[in-house]
Amino acid sequence: MTDLALDTTTRGWAGGEIARGCPDCGEISLVPRHPAPAATLICPRCDRALERSGARGVEAGLALNAAALILMAPACLMPLLSTTALGATRVSRLIGLTGVMWRDRQPWLGLALGLFLVVFPIVRLGLLTAVLGRLRLARLAPGRSPRRSAPAWLGPAFRLAQALGPWAMVDVFLVALMIAYSRLATTISVGLGAGGYALAGVGLLMLLARAALDPAAVWEAIAPAADPGRLGPGALDCDACGEVQVPSRPGAACVRCGAHLHRRRPAALRRAAALSLAGLLLYIPANLYPIATLPIGLTPTRYTILQGVKDLMTAGFDGLALIVFTASFLIPCGKLLGLGWCTVSVLTRSRFALKSRSRLYTAIDEIGRWSMIDPFVIGAFVPVMQYNDFIYGRAEPAATAFTAVVVTTMLAARLFDPRRMWDAAGRVRETKA
Ligand SMILES: [Zn+2]
Ligand SMILES: [Zn+2]
Repeated sequence: MTDLALDTTTRGWAGGEIARGCPDCGEISLVPRHPAPAATLICPRCDRALERSGARGVEAGLALNAAALILMAPACLMPLLSTTALGATRVSRLIGLTGVMWRDRQPWLGLALGLFLVVFPIVRLGLLTAVLGRLRLARLAPGRSPRRSAPAWLGPAFRLAQALGPWAMVDVFLVALMIAYSRLATTISVGLGAGGYALAGVGLLMLLARAALDPAAVWEAIAPAADPGRLGPGALDCDACGEVQVPSRPGAACVRCGAHLHRRRPAALRRAAALSLAGLLLYIPANLYPIATLPIGLTPTRYTILQGVKDLMTAGFDGLALIVFTASFLIPCGKLLGLGWCTVSVLTRSRFALKSRSRLYTAIDEIGRWSMIDPFVIGAFVPVMQYNDFIYGRAEPAATAFTAVVVTTMLAARLFDPRRMWDAAGRVRETKA
């Protein structure tokens, strides 16, 4: 943070305030351009924390992301899990999960595993390493104006990296790997391979990188926010990078990150409602039909999600059962109910519990990805349970339906615009005055 601040002060924009839009309620307020370390900026209208400063800056973020990117190679290519039975050994690799699911005639589940665990993490880490590396290089050349020398790809690249954040699910898969390992260990000889350890390293580095990096400070280093004194009427904030600007026309591109500018996300309510409804409909087969087959004793047994939870409890893993029950049952239910409530409250122009609803929306948006635990558990155990007609594991069609529930509800939460709830309720402060 302080390193980046030094960077921006060289451009004659030292100190002062910048305009910042609240993603929850849409209020545009003035905040310090360089907040004090460890300061939390609060939205004056809805009390949302707009920004927490105090991150370590470019160097730490760059080092952690680059290290995670390098570790992705062994994590993808080396064995994740290995099992031994009947004198034979079976090994799984992250890079091979898509192919295993493809052969099992679950191509969509295979595609989800490939994208969420290999493609998106690598693309995100690669983009972050490139953006932070370029910013680091720009700082090594004193006297050059970073705004002029900053290449045009920096903004769109950082926007894409940020957008991929929730979809790069290494952390979720690590929990799934722990569950698969614990469950398999009760019936078969199982070992964690070098790829598993490398992936745990990637997960830890990504966690640290997230903590080390302050996105607002990176945006400020890519291109400093405009002086609020220069903003005229019609100013709005970019949904992706937060830059407050006056667009030349509706839907024009953001000057900093290239995202399309809209006062509110277009057709937010209709799109979110359609996707939530699709999620609700898919949720029924996802729970009624088996998601996987796993040998118990020597009998291949087909499981639904709740039978899987029961099996974990029977095997003595009450904690893991609680994790799976929360991720696979409570979170999707809560998401669908919460999104439904948010949507109805816009239609009825409700003012009831506006702030709580905004916090609920943020929670729904952030927690949704953890529902992928169950499909990931299947992805982790199927490749190492291929022995004979009795000892085998297989994903069943409801696993694809469940994955579709997670994806549609995550997209619904992304497309819904919480600012609509505040628009619909009217400006609270004006009505009080
Ligand atoms: Zn707010
Ligand atoms: Zn932008």
